[in-house]
Amino acid sequence: MEQKVLEKYAQLLVKKGINIQKNQILVINCPVECAEFARVITKIAYDEGAKEVFINWSDEIITQLRYLHATDEVFDEYPEWMKVFYLNNAEKDAAFLSISATNPELLKDVDSNRITRYQKVSSKAIEEYRNKQMSNKLTWCIASIPTTSWAKKVFPNVSDEKAKEKLWDAIIKTVRVDQDDPKIAWDEHLKNLNKSSKSLNESHFKMLKFHNKLGTDLSIELPEGHIWLGGAEITPNGIVFIANIPTEEVFTLPKKTGVNGIVYSSKPLNYNGNLIEDFSITFKEGKIVDFKAKTGYETLQSLIETDEGSHYLGEVALVSYDSPISKSNILFFNTLFDENASCHLAIGRAYPVCIKNSEGKDAEELNKMGVNNSSTHVDFMFGTKDLQIIGITHDNKEVAIFKDGNFII
Ligand code: ZN
Ligand code: ZN
Repeated sequence: MEQKVLEKYAQLLVKKGINIQKNQILVINCPVECAEFARVITKIAYDEGAKEVFINWSDEIITQLRYLHATDEVFDEYPEWMKVFYLNNAEKDAAFLSISATNPELLKDVDSNRITRYQKVSSKAIEEYRNKQMSNKLTWCIASIPTTSWAKKVFPNVSDEKAKEKLWDAIIKTVRVDQDDPKIAWDEHLKNLNKSSKSLNESHFKMLKFHNKLGTDLSIELPEGHIWLGGAEITPNGIVFIANIPTEEVFTLPKKTGVNGIVYSSKPLNYNGNLIEDFSITFKEGKIVDFKAKTGYETLQSLIETDEGSHYLGEVALVSYDSPISKSNILFFNTLFDENASCHLAIGRAYPVCIKNSEGKDAEELNKMGVNNSSTHVDFMFGTKDLQIIGITHDNKEVAIFKDGNFII
């Protein structure tokens, strides 16, 4: 990609995404294949007054080799130095920028038990960091640039180079870096997302009902005091940041025990380097009581069985079928993009910022308010062109929210 475009994109991530502050530490999680981009980001971050930039490199081949060949016991312990790295930087109010660019099938030959175990110990070890992240007490942003293996999964029928070029093109468009001034384009976009969340908040729905021809027939109760969010986030100190670039969703939390019916996936889910495809999940009083998958059943099972909270939902997000990412008609095999092309739900933990008066409450108190807790939070897509959503108000009026896949309020 041209240097000019890389710079334009990096400017957006540093200034609008994490909104770096003077004298703030920046932590970048980045694949080595994307090193050139990390250097551009680092330079801009220093120009903007960052105190220091730390890079946490990863390499997917080495990750794969580790899962295949490392001694079994390493998957039950999270390295102390890594824990210190995250907690220490979180304590110093660092900003965290992650470049998400994984090969969707990286770990398909790996024993899924190893992945699940390591997932568990790592989320437990850095729980404090996650808590801060999920309550927006630190600034964070996830964005992507292409890697060859990922691009080839998205565009399998062209050369490596062409595949990367096509994925670059798609990403640049979805993050609005093709516009003259991406920052102005984002301000406009954030305003629109705000409008949707505002009208949903003013409606105070007590329940949402979802139907489509795939077979989804789901009702989701919303807890008292729930808040719809979308677009920019804000820290308690008033720093505005964008946690996902791109983002097209407005979201809130379901009442933990208020989900009933069945939901069918509408896109494959890339979870921990494995794909789960054509799956359905059945809920009773919030709990997952049954699930099926044509591909990746065991991966879905290991996700659902992560802990008690991963048997419940933590997020319901609405995205118009006509969103620009959806219109691109590209299946990205990367949740950051696919979730922004489709209505989605998250298995696992809810964002406490999605409910009033959550500040200072512990997990048990939050649970009573209907806020699910888990060590995991994984979005999966179920939106379709024919999805209908009806909202039920406290005086039992039915209001159409989505008709034929799109917002109508
Ligand atoms: Zn979401
Ligand atoms: Zn989510």
